[in-house]
Amino acid sequence: MAYIKVNQDKITKEVAEKLIKICPFGAFDYENDYLSINAACRICKLCVNKGPVGACEFIDDVREKIDKTLFSGVTVFIEQHQNKAHPVSWELVGKAKELAAINGEPVLAVIIGDDVEHIAQEALTYGVDRVHVYQDEHYRDFNVERYTNVLEHFFQTQQNNVFLYGGTPMGRSFAPKVAARLKTGLTADCTALEMTDERDLLQIRPAFGGNIMAKIHTPNTRPQMATVRYKMFNKPEKQAPTGKIIWEDTSTLSKKTTISILDHYNKPKVTDISDAEVIIAVGRAFKKEKDLELIEPLRKKLNAEVGCTRPLIENGWFDPKKQIGLSGRTVKPKLIINLGISGAVQFIEGMKDSELIISVNRDPNNKLFDISHYAIVGDVYDVLPELNRLIDQIIGGKNEVS
Ligand SMILES: Cc1cc2nc3c(=O)[nH]c(=O)nc-3n(C[C@H](O)[C@H](O)[C@H](O)COP(=O)(O)OP(=O)(O)OC[C@H]3O[C@@H](n4cnc5c(N)ncnc54)[C@H](O)[C@@H]3O)c2cc1C
Repeated sequence: MAYIKVNQDKITKEVAEKLIKICPFGAFDYENDYLSINAACRICKLCVNKGPVGACEFIDDVREKIDKTLFSGVTVFIEQHQNKAHPVSWELVGKAKELAAINGEPVLAVIIGDDVEHIAQEALTYGVDRVHVYQDEHYRDFNVERYTNVLEHFFQTQQNNVFLYGGTPMGRSFAPKVAARLKTGLTADCTALEMTDERDLLQIRPAFGGNIMAKIHTPNTRPQMATVRYKMFNKPEKQAPTGKIIWEDTSTLSKKTTISILDHYNKPKVTDISDAEVIIAVGRAFKKEKDLELIEPLRKKLNAEVGCTRPLIENGWFDPKKQIGLSGRTVKPKLIINLGISGAVQFIEGMKDSELIISVNRDPNNKLFDISHYAIVGDVYDVLPELNRLIDQIIGGKNEVS
């Protein structure tokens, strides 16, 4: 890993003070005539380039080049809970098929669990070439230690190129542990993935609060690993299976664990806006929490879920699970109606793939209008009653709306 080295023989009190002033991250500590670098360092190299000559040095610990042709296969971790696959897994299989086709690689899947043959069969119907199943009673419940041992075995036996996980609570706790074990990179919450002719995975995700899209590239390590949120990609069509299931021998894998599951509790079922077909999304145009009651008639008529922007969560008006956007949920409903939302990039990233987008805003230059199928310029307090009236006309069978 690249790092900044402080050449202590060049450090005097004055040099240290200059470096402390230059560093925008407060990453230097000077104590007892010793200048150290703390965890705030972003390796921006300002200290090397603008600091006193020779005081700091950039050490680029470049890895040896690897022979990329030795690694093949775009693999998806098929997440299951209580023997039911998480739908993000099938979305990832769809993307894996696209990525694998670029260089003629196989599409693989790994399933860990007990009594999971039906999930393996389902994976084949989505076009997976090889499903590696690690079935054992010890794997019934997710256990990050045991599951990491399983994937370590998978990578020892397969020269795997790319490995994808769902950006779910399970994927988010599992993937970093595997990446650390294998000393490889991991990009969390990718919003797009591309493949080069050199079999390098371009892992694309918003960075710096969504102000830039970063293309992350790990050319010298394999496997290349990424997590992707639910609803980013499309589930593939089912097909006649042509792939095969490989039953892996689990008897030699360590099942040692420091985790014991004492009990299971099912969380009360909350409708997840990620799965909603119709969403009414509300923003800061609503001045008081009580004003949100205005959307109720429309919500009921459309059988819609309500989602919101981040400021409304910060106001305490909604449960955080209702937030749409980069730091909230990604949604892809058949219809989304945005009411008084500015269209910050962080919001748009979470809903831009919705099938039909209608936006209401009093600002004719509203950014959401650029991605909307219908734009209504007006005050939400005036437009809402009008929308209610129009929907009444349609539902009332008169169908008089043009
Ligand atoms: C790291 C980071 C992550 C973030 N993640 C998210 C995220 O996941 N989701 C998210 O939503 N935000 C997120 N944000 C915040 C985001 O940048 C915006 O601040 C937020 O989306 C703005 O919410 P808004 O559109 O409701 O409010 P505003 O920006 O205040 O916009 C209000 C809009 O309503 C219109 N309006 C006002 N009154 C009326 C009216 N009476 N009738 C019609 N139109 C009216 C205005 O013209 C304006 O367009 C994040 C920010 C950061 C820094």
